[in-house]
Amino acid sequence: MILPALAEAESPFWRPIKYSLFPPLGLATLAAYLSPDDEIDLQDQHVEDLNLTDSPDLVIIQVYITNAYRAYQIADHYKKKGAYVLLGGLHVTSLPEEAALHADTIFLGPGEETFPQFLKDFKNKSAKKVYSSSIRTLEKIPPIRRDLIKRNRYLVPNSIVVTRGCPHHCDFCYKDAFFEGGRTFYTQTVDDALAEIDRLPGRHLYFLDDHLLGNAKFASELFEGMRGMNRVFQGAATVDSILRGNLIEKAAEAGLRSLFVGFETFSPANLKQSNKKQNLEKDYVKAVNRLHSLGIMINGSFVFGLDEDDKDVFKRTVDWGVNNSLTTSTYHVLTPYPGTKLFKDMEQQGRILTRNWDLYDTRNVVYKTINLTSDELKNGYNWAYKEFYSWPNILKASLNQDSHKHKLKHFFYSGGWKKFEPVWNFMIKTKNLNGMLPLLESILSKVKTQDKVATSSQDMISNKQLELITQSNDNIW
Ligand code: SF4
Repeated sequence: MILPALAEAESPFWRPIKYSLFPPLGLATLAAYLSPDDEIDLQDQHVEDLNLTDSPDLVIIQVYITNAYRAYQIADHYKKKGAYVLLGGLHVTSLPEEAALHADTIFLGPGEETFPQFLKDFKNKSAKKVYSSSIRTLEKIPPIRRDLIKRNRYLVPNSIVVTRGCPHHCDFCYKDAFFEGGRTFYTQTVDDALAEIDRLPGRHLYFLDDHLLGNAKFASELFEGMRGMNRVFQGAATVDSILRGNLIEKAAEAGLRSLFVGFETFSPANLKQSNKKQNLEKDYVKAVNRLHSLGIMINGSFVFGLDEDDKDVFKRTVDWGVNNSLTTSTYHVLTPYPGTKLFKDMEQQGRILTRNWDLYDTRNVVYKTINLTSDELKNGYNWAYKEFYSWPNILKASLNQDSHKHKLKHFFYSGGWKKFEPVWNFMIKTKNLNGMLPLLESILSKVKTQDKVATSSQDMISNKQLELITQSNDNIW
């Protein structure tokens, strides 16, 4: 089982931390359907050199858009050696004809139903060319083969997914293409999800679900069950789900300490164009304040290059993030992934400029822009990252937090993420990344109520300390 990396993640000199965050859960999930007697080697090229000298009976490769060419090369290599090659994943589902040229069998959509069927057929030498998922359920799925994961290579080995898909339908999102032909959002049973959490060692969890609060009943029962488990966790949810009811309070009580939120754009026209209805007329600042009042750090996601964006969008977006104390920001150049409605629309309008999938990495401009030139978009995107993660802005955003502990947490989380790449690189190289987990857990641990009521003198000391750290770091970096 192989998860190929895009070229950048394979450099012998430099390993960005973002490629060593999460283990290949999808493949480990499929591995659970193999027999305990089967000999399995799960390789993740993001964190290890691939061994391609073996001669397996079956090769299973997960393909996403920016690893597609690498995946096809590996597939061709094994086909020449006489192995049976199976390709699956987002990109295969979006472009089955392209992927089929490199595989004996392709998988479309999620594999929980089709992979066991394939295994039966494969053993009977009657495997089909295409397996397409239609029945969507997570009931009775076997426990993920986490024993195949090299935990010490990842910062977040305890990543977990308890739902599939998302209830929304944004035009730029892969989700609808992947889940076409069946349910597009479904959950595990709460008991199964809690049992999976219970199997994970340590305190920290990262829910990789597209929308952890997407099914309010499920999420509410999950958080009830997690109370008292002494976990700290991170996840993702939409603006409207943060503002609605009291689910977010329940999440905080269960240990939620940081949330990825898709703000994407401030323009109602852009939101309408993207079919991101769940953000329309929602008070972003209110959502941010609610999260901060619960001690939840925010990773805000923003897209640049939607048709209404102008030259000011970059500064507007960075300033808003800093003034509202987002801990981290993730910026993307709008990318029309094949299979999405956005791609189809742009293709019809003759706006797709390249089909080199390596460039579909949300850092390059692959389509004809409207109000911005391609250079303005690319340069603005680069500027936004640099500006948001400048020391003065990290300091400013940290100082906007209400207590001295939150200021420090914000400062170290945000600074640590972008400013200490050489340290991350060293930990990755020495295969000790997992040793940083206690530090992450302590940054994410709950601020006690008495800590929140900081005196003004404590705040002044804290502000002064942060300024001094910033000045000394400016000298280093
Ligand atoms: S809310 Fe997020 S996961 Fe859901 S469809 Fe939109 S972009 Fe995709």
